[in-house]
Amino acid sequence: MIPHVLPTYNRADLAFERGEGSWAIATDGTRYLDLGAGIAVNVLGHANPDLVAALTEQAGRIWHVSNLYHIPQQEKLADQLVESTFADTVFFTNSGTEAAELAIKMVRKYWTDQGQPDRIEILTFEGAFHGRSTGAIAAAGSEKMVAGYGPLMPGFRSLPWGDIDALKAAISDQTAAVMLEPLQGEGGIRPLPDADLAAIRALCDQTGALLVLDEVQCGMGRTGKLFAHEWAGITPDIMMVAKGIGGGFPLGAVLATEKAAKAMVAGSHGSTYGGNPLACAVGARVMDIVATPEFLAEVNRKAALFRQKLESLVAAHPAVFDSVRGQGLMLGLKLKIAPADLVKAGYAEHLLTVPAADNTLRLLPPLNIADEDIAEAVARLDRAAGRLDG
Ligand SMILES: *Cc1c(COP(=O)(O)O)cnc(C)c1O
Repeated sequence: MIPHVLPTYNRADLAFERGEGSWAIATDGTRYLDLGAGIAVNVLGHANPDLVAALTEQAGRIWHVSNLYHIPQQEKLADQLVESTFADTVFFTNSGTEAAELAIKMVRKYWTDQGQPDRIEILTFEGAFHGRSTGAIAAAGSEKMVAGYGPLMPGFRSLPWGDIDALKAAISDQTAAVMLEPLQGEGGIRPLPDADLAAIRALCDQTGALLVLDEVQCGMGRTGKLFAHEWAGITPDIMMVAKGIGGGFPLGAVLATEKAAKAMVAGSHGSTYGGNPLACAVGARVMDIVATPEFLAEVNRKAALFRQKLESLVAAHPAVFDSVRGQGLMLGLKLKIAPADLVKAGYAEHLLTVPAADNTLRLLPPLNIADEDIAEAVARLDRAAGRLDG
């Protein structure tokens, strides 16, 4: 008999009832050190007092009104995002997938508005993840995600990850956009060198193609800059944001330049919940805290500490680990064993981690993880790896 909850997930046999900072407390009272943060979502940890206050203050006033009316919390958060980024305008969604959908629609609308409605090809990269809608799976194109869901939305061509020569060969003045994650998450914490991202920007400029960056996972301070593309000194035309921006409350956004967004007029897109007062009140508080030089400097300091300890860990278990990769607190351990085995061994040490493709274990702690919790996490990873040294 099919379970009452549709069984599309491989869930661990764990349930949590409380959280405190970087710790999640299971229903049996066991404390787990959380290096997953709800998949890069809980940027300020569990039950952060500032975010609890922002949510409960708003909850006592008004929860939801719809976008039939002005939403001051939305306008405030849009102001913050525009002030802190390349963007001129913001549309709020409830998730990363919805942000990806709008990004794709915006690209099509842009070229239609330019009198080139047939200019629909969006170049993407293997290992990409943009969500699970019909558009987002067509964009990513991996067999695992698309099997059984055809026919797929046309207009996407997937290139080998980070292959600039392949991009040079594929891009033309008929390309609508290039869409990528500056640092792949689900794909296995695979970074793109800054020079390559700059080269992609230049190819877009030469051909007129829009550059669409998916910073759903690598954005919101995760890499030590507010957004990962800042490391390369370039800006996109359109960017998807979600995960960390709500600190655990469902919230996403599409940020765009005026040029890329100018065809999106009243009636061209919408959402019932998108940018609702609760979500935006929390998002604004997240931005207040994360989008400051002091906070981001701390992320970079903690990241250096974590990385140094991980390099020693990798050296100590050569049968388990291959290498450390990633940037900031978006770290990956490339493994010589199956990631699922190390995730399981982590549970036995009361440690939460996240598997990814390309034989990689993801470490995505809250961005304000305490230094002693970083040390504790590495000690637990060391014991977990010890279980598998063989
Ligand atoms: C998680 C993720 C998405 C999808 O976000 P949802 O909120 O799950 O819809 C899209 N792109 C990237 C890079 C992601 O990591």
